[in-house]
Amino acid sequence: METSQVVFFDRDGIVNRRIEGGYVRTPDEFIFCEGFFPLFRWVKDAGFRAIIVSNQQGVAKGIMTDRQLWALTEWMQSRIEERTGSRFDDVYYCTELDSLQSRCRKPQPTMLLEALAKWNGDASSSWMIGDMPSDVEAAVKAGVRAILVGPYAPEDTPAAFAVVPDLASCLDVLRRAVEA
Ligand SMILES: [Mg+2]
Repeated sequence: METSQVVFFDRDGIVNRRIEGGYVRTPDEFIFCEGFFPLFRWVKDAGFRAIIVSNQQGVAKGIMTDRQLWALTEWMQSRIEERTGSRFDDVYYCTELDSLQSRCRKPQPTMLLEALAKWNGDASSSWMIGDMPSDVEAAVKAGVRAILVGPYAPEDTPAAFAVVPDLASCLDVLRRAVEA
């Protein structure tokens, strides 16, 4: 199997807008982030696998079922396909509670490592895009470069390849790095 280069996407705050202190459970609550579609289209056109790695402890809390989560995922994939002609190649969720016992929740690199193994991914030419320092931490542990999107200072997260304010700037950084 050929090696693949992967762009890992966090979901809430990157693909769709985050609900502060809440959970996105239904299409009504799922609002795509500004700049997501151009970024996704570029990632696919550039030949990357696009894979979601997302913590969704709302399932363990009983706020949504696993079935609802995957129904929403299928809805999301269909909307993305309508807009870009592509879908995420794979989607990983960690539905465990936020606790020290969780083996899969980011900042653990578990989901990224599983996906790299499954897709024969080359970590050193792969990327992670997230809106939390825990996304950066998970990526770095997996040997993947991370771009952190949000109102952070670069010195807060020295492990990130770049810290950018929005998805349009994220696309600029990625494009420059890949096309260089
Ligand atoms: Mg997030």
